[in-house]
Amino acid sequence: MSHPLATSVDWFEEGQWPALRCGLCGRGRLSVEGDERTSEDGQSERLHSHEAWEPEWISGTFSATLQCTDPECADRAECVGEWRVDYASRSRHGEQYANHFKIRAVWPSPVLIDLPDGTPDQVRDLVKSAAAILWLDPSSAANRLRTSIEHLLTAQHVNRQKRAPNKKLHKHSLHERIDLFRARRPDVAEQLEAVKWIGNEGSHEEGLSVDQVLAGAEHLEHALDLLYDPAPATLKARARKINKRRGL
Ligand SMILES: [Zn+2]
Repeated sequence: MSHPLATSVDWFEEGQWPALRCGLCGRGRLSVEGDERTSEDGQSERLHSHEAWEPEWISGTFSATLQCTDPECADRAECVGEWRVDYASRSRHGEQYANHFKIRAVWPSPVLIDLPDGTPDQVRDLVKSAAAILWLDPSSAANRLRTSIEHLLTAQHVNRQKRAPNKKLHKHSLHERIDLFRARRPDVAEQLEAVKWIGNEGSHEEGLSVDQVLAGAEHLEHALDLLYDPAPATLKARARKINKRRGL
């Protein structure tokens, strides 16, 4: 199992763009329009005069315009990132070298989590803002997903505070709130706890990788589906009806 954005995490070769799902319509894929624009950095340029210079010393930045493949949407997004020249995985037009790219930002952001219709607005906003910084600052993106759980639990009427024996109000930790919710929905709580642990890692010094954020996103998406996707409940109810009537 891997997240649809998993192919966007590492370096990729020209002609092998990762399949980013359009964040505007949610249906189409973003495909590169024309050629990527590359810009060599100063250090790379100066190295050209070195006697041992090879094309794979070339590096810099790139930008590209992406367009949604859904004809009804056809919206565009801009992508920027790192660029380097390296050996081609297979010879293209007799060329030994190819451009290689690493994404740092895409705006408007592609889909990070497929949000079911009933998703609370604050959760929706935080997921979208996590998608915007996914490649630039994965640790902060994971923290935003973690914060969205607080809003999700509030929407599910899980208390934010408890009254201590001395009658003072104390704020529940996120973990305590997940535990309160566990009594009602153990299946969802298990998924939310995984998102919480990954988000905690986000505050650590060494930081998180994009892959780890994508794992957290998968667990949050599953939790949202369990809570807000009506399809399984509708199918269950219909099956029950059909079985009772012994037919449709
Ligand atoms: Zn689109």
